[in-house]
Order: sequence, then structure tokens, then C-alpha cells
Amino acid sequence: MKILRVTGYLIVLLALIACQEETVPQGLAVDAQVRNRGADKAQWWDALPRPEWSAFARLDDAAGWFEVYLVQPGVFAIYEPGQFEEVISYLILGETRALLFDTGLGIGAIDAVVAPLTDLPLVVLNSHSHYDHIGGNHLFDVIYGPDNAYTATRARGLDHAAVAGGVAEGWIWKDTPVDFDATTFRSRGYAISEFVGEASVIDLGGRRLEVLLTPGHAPDSLCLLDRENRLLFVGDTFYPAPLYTHIAGSSFTDYVVSANRLATLAPIVDFLLPGHNVGLVGAEYLSKMAQAFAQIGDGVADYIVTDGNRQYQFDGFSIIVAGTPADAVD
Ligand SMILES: [Zn+2]
Repeated sequence: MKILRVTGYLIVLLALIACQEETVPQGLAVDAQVRNRGADKAQWWDALPRPEWSAFARLDDAAGWFEVYLVQPGVFAIYEPGQFEEVISYLILGETRALLFDTGLGIGAIDAVVAPLTDLPLVVLNSHSHYDHIGGNHLFDVIYGPDNAYTATRARGLDHAAVAGGVAEGWIWKDTPVDFDATTFRSRGYAISEFVGEASVIDLGGRRLEVLLTPGHAPDSLCLLDRENRLLFVGDTFYPAPLYTHIAGSSFTDYVVSANRLATLAPIVDFLLPGHNVGLVGAEYLSKMAQAFAQIGDGVADYIVTDGNRQYQFDGFSIIVAGTPADAVD
């Protein structure tokens, strides 16, 4: 039996996501990326709140670190707009269990946000193990994850120096929780309770989530398909902003394979639920993403050079690819 301390569900109609020329770094971006994200604004956060969130019922009291929105029946987006990454974790409810897909930055206590939303037994699973998606893992007892060397490394935690950039000046604009200390912030270790792999099905009772391993953004990137409700939780494999194929651990080649695979799901999915910025985008982006990668592969897409990498702009998103042709060695 589930207890929802909410007043009701909102039927959500999604407007097309406007093209956003922004940078969403994973890991430690240089200061210039923070500055540039604001475009013509004085600060990147001057562009907040993003208008897309006004389509959803908001459930929290607006005083804390997290913002909570009901984005689909039984699906809560737990959003952290106070830090540059604008990370989104998702609480997905079944009838007998709940799954928390990602646990955020670790700046606020996400377990305290989840507790009033459900009393069901809870499982954590991460879309991938970049620091900004595993920050609250240590607060939970049951954590599923892939049997992947990258995951295992990240589960051992990262020291302060490795993640200090994420809480540096210019990265956080909201008041942080009183027990948060930027000078000691680190990525806390955690233990995987149970492995999941390709085609694993996580049955929440009345809701089945299928695991799709989709490396590219990170070696352990995965998506969750809720076939009955026509939802695809995509983590950082797609969001309406620059997609990263050029950072440590990412793979352009793997990303192409994953994008092509996800495009085949477009007919059976209505919405994607991304790991950053906005909580729901149309599934047409699956096809657009695959087409974009194909155009890059065919050498027919235009790009600009940013920080020595190629940035290809498409309708509503871009793709950053390592290096430039001048870097190529015959
Ligand atoms: Zn990431």
C-alpha cells in the first residue's frame, strides 16, 4: 500500500522544448563553461526557473535544496536547480516497491525528500555513476547497479579534490543545507546490493522497468524503459543541451550504437525523462539524436570549435566531439 502526501495528479501536456544553447558539464568543467552558460545573462542562474517546470504540480515547500514535481502519474522529478548541473533524480512508484533513479549531487539529503513521498520498500539504481548522480547513494540500503568496472571504481567514492570544482564559486547560487560544507564535500562510497544487466526487469508491482545498457556518455550509462506507460528514463544519454562524447570515460562509438538502438524505441515511447535541466521531453528526440550522430559520422554536419572540440548544433540539442580534424594524425 502506498501513501502519497499529495493532493492529486496533474495531467501533463508537454510543449516542445525550446532550443537551449547551454552547457551541462559532467565532472569538472572550467570556469569559462560556467560563465558561458549564462549567455547574455550576468549569471547562469538568471535564466532560472526554466519555464518547462511550470507545467507540473510542485510538491515541496520551496524552502529547501530540492524541488519536487509530479511529472507523470507515480513519477516524481527531484530537481536541484541550485547547482550548475541542475541534476534531476526520479522517484518511480509501483504498488509494492519504489525505485529511485539517481540520488543527485549529495549536497542535500535526498532520503528526507523521498521519505514523505512513499512508504514502499525502496531500491536505488543509477543512470550512470558520475558524481552528480550518485551523491545520495550512501543514504540508502538497497542499491542496484551494473557489474561494470567503472561503476565499481566510482562506488569506492571520490575525495574532495576530485569533486571540489562542482561546489566551487559560481557553481551554486541557492542557500545550501546547514550541514553542508563545501570545503569537505566528497563523493561518498556505497555498496551495490544486487547486479542488474541488459534486459533485467525490475518489477515494482504494477510497473515493470526494463534495463537497457546504453554506454556512450559514460561506460555504465543505462536507461529504464517503462513499456506500459510509454516512458524512457534516459539519464544523461539525452537531455536538451550539449551531449558529451568527449569527456573521460565517454565513447563516441558506443554512443552511436546506443543512439541507434534507442531510436528503434521511438514508436513505443511518448516521453523521455532526462538527468538534467527539464523533467520531460518528447520521444521524437530519440530519432533526432540518432540522425544527428549519423550526420556527424557522414561528415555532413556543421560544427563550431569550442575548447578544442567540435560542437555540432542540432534542433534542441548539440553534440560535442573530441578534437578537431586538424588534430588527426595519418
Ligand atoms: Zn553524466
